[in-house]
Amino acid sequence: NTGQSVTVIGLGPMGRAMAGAFLDRGYDVTVWNRTASRAGDLVARGAVLAPNVQEALASHELVVLSLTDYDAVDAVLEPAGAALAGRVLVNLSSDTPERARSAARRAAERGAVQLTGGVTVPPDGIGLAESASFYSGPRRVFDRHRTALEVLTGRTDHLGEDPGLAALMYQIGMTMFWTSMLGYWQAVALADANGLKAADILPHAVDTAHSLPGFFSFYAERIDAGRHTGDVDRLAMGTASIEHVLRTSADAGVDTTLPASAVELFRRGMNAGRAADSFSTLVELMKKPGA
Ligand code: NDP
Repeated sequence: NTGQSVTVIGLGPMGRAMAGAFLDRGYDVTVWNRTASRAGDLVARGAVLAPNVQEALASHELVVLSLTDYDAVDAVLEPAGAALAGRVLVNLSSDTPERARSAARRAAERGAVQLTGGVTVPPDGIGLAESASFYSGPRRVFDRHRTALEVLTGRTDHLGEDPGLAALMYQIGMTMFWTSMLGYWQAVALADANGLKAADILPHAVDTAHSLPGFFSFYAERIDAGRHTGDVDRLAMGTASIEHVLRTSADAGVDTTLPASAVELFRRGMNAGRAADSFSTLVELMKKPGA
């Protein structure tokens, strides 16, 4: 093998893909999971299943944590005792920036160092050169382990020293992912109510999604400059448009939770006297909902 080694704790779909990617590259891989049976295939491929979390931690300096959330991280690391000292914990478990920061502090108190990570691909993207992930925490630790991290995703980025930063960036992505996917589900439900299959609307759905990056760039500059002039679009137009969206769903008899929430945001902007501004002015209301 390459002389490189890693422990992977947490063998959900992501952890299994990660341990598998390390095995493919010839790493010495130790794994541990609450439900030991999930390690079966990996052990068949050469991984060592540690009998407990202490031994898993003791086996290698580099430890990848792929757990559901930081409650799970706490549950797994709590009994670890002195075995944490000297370990580099690459925490790829999703949670809030605050949870990531407090976990990093607790790790430091126990002599370990945490790199918080965010992986932006599903399990089948693990191990691919074109996949990307980002990290935050001590730069020198990231640099020292970068080669191993690049086994997981070919592209890696260090965002900064704050262990909360990678968690924040991950949640920013997830904010967009879940709400956008719900928008797609709404479109599919609406199509279905009108006798169209998901496949029938796919080309139009993809074209619509592809139009979004252009809007992001256009508005980012204006938002950062605090400029919401209604020269290309007006909130009054947007409000009329989103009301058509709501009515179309209501007429079709599909769920209206999502479009109704959107209408509520637009109306708040109208009530605040912003009718003649761009609909980007809604960002200001969303920044300070009480104002
Ligand atoms: P899962 O939730 O399926 O699995 C996570 C692991 O957490 C399992 O090994 C599970 O153990 C363990 N676990 C959960 N609670 C506890 C606990 N209280 N004590 C001990 N172990 C616990 O997650 P995934 O593998 O899908 O993902 C892992 C992380 O990666 C998550 O934070 C997820 O948000 C993130 N992620 C997932 C992606 C995906 O597409 N799946 C994509 C990008 C990021 P057990 O097997 O015993 O249940």
